[in-house]
Amino acid sequence: MKSLQRKRVLVTGGAGFLGSHLCERLLAEGDDVICVDNFFTGTKDNILHLLENPHFEVMRHDITFPLYVEVDEIYNLACPASPIHYQYDPVQTTKTTVHGAINMLGLAKRVNAKIFQASTSEVYGDPELHPQPESYWGNVNPIGVRSCYDEGKRCAETLFFDYFRQHKLRIKVARIFNTYGPYMHPNDGRVVSNFIMQALQDQPITVYGDGSQTRSFCYVDDLIEVFVRLMATPDDFTGPMNTGNPGEFTIKELAEKVVEMIGSKSEIIYTPLPSDDPTQRQPDISLAKETVGWEPQIKLEEGLVKTIAYFADLTKQRQE
Ligand code: NAD
Ligand code: UDP
Repeated sequence: MKSLQRKRVLVTGGAGFLGSHLCERLLAEGDDVICVDNFFTGTKDNILHLLENPHFEVMRHDITFPLYVEVDEIYNLACPASPIHYQYDPVQTTKTTVHGAINMLGLAKRVNAKIFQASTSEVYGDPELHPQPESYWGNVNPIGVRSCYDEGKRCAETLFFDYFRQHKLRIKVARIFNTYGPYMHPNDGRVVSNFIMQALQDQPITVYGDGSQTRSFCYVDDLIEVFVRLMATPDDFTGPMNTGNPGEFTIKELAEKVVEMIGSKSEIIYTPLPSDDPTQRQPDISLAKETVGWEPQIKLEEGLVKTIAYFADLTKQRQE
């Protein structure tokens, strides 16, 4: 039976970095939250603090298989996001992005739920247009090592829009740019967690290439805020909507900043650039500003302070 007050919300990938923050936020808003995860990159540690909440439920499940639950809203976040992890089993990555999307869209259709897709700036590939507006179709290699993720996420967007056109499903598509913060996996392989972990242990900071490639980094709290605002938009608003922080930095600048903030003895070393590594990334967030009145509030230094504190704590706990 339908609850009269609480919304029932499914979060796939709920034990991951972004998913755990989202579950926490939705519970704080008074929703009933079902976290579905196969724990490929996510961990119970990320959601331990939520387990005592009677409105929180965890299901170990792989979204490449069908799922039947009665819910009002679905946030589809399940998918490894770090290049190391999504390239570990590329076929499973494509299955998760494509079969997973089909299963979650099928569920949304069956129970008439509104559904949110965690898409990515990777749909723009190595962009020739800078910054990237949502109208840009991208420059993506279909057969490279990043394609399982990039093309999988592009196909998922296609599926979302076909379900919208064909079945009148209520969809919300967010294109997420690089986001960082507490609960990232320390061995996740992404640049912010790598640099912080290396600097905390006075190990060499591994800059890939010459470090001139750029990324725009968004602190997780800002991102979760725009997720919730996007989900609450009127039914005729589908996105895709860029969600990220336009503050753009070279990877070398990030390395120097992290070393300086931690006061680390680490030296910066340069190693080969992985193939198809995009040279530049900056979201045009005009649509988010106009539609949901959102722009990031947390500057890189401020977010790094919180993230460094989290990883420092984690490192200390491991040593004890
Ligand atoms: P993450 O790896 O920390 O979390 C992903 C979660 O999905 C993990 O808990 C993992 O165990 C789970 N998962 C993976 N495959 C699954 C499957 N088949 N069935 C069920 N669960 C599965 O990554 P994240 O940074 O939290 O990313 C969450 C979502 O946001 C992903 O879809 C990712 O593509 C997207 N995204 C993230 C970023 C970012 O900067 N963090 C940027 C762009 C897009
Ligand atoms: N990167 C790096 N050293 C690392 C990890 C990543 O120089 O230890 C670079 C990587 O080559 C890329 C950028 O940092 O240019 C962001 O990488 P990340 O894996 O975080 O995300 P994505 O490439 O998917 O944006």
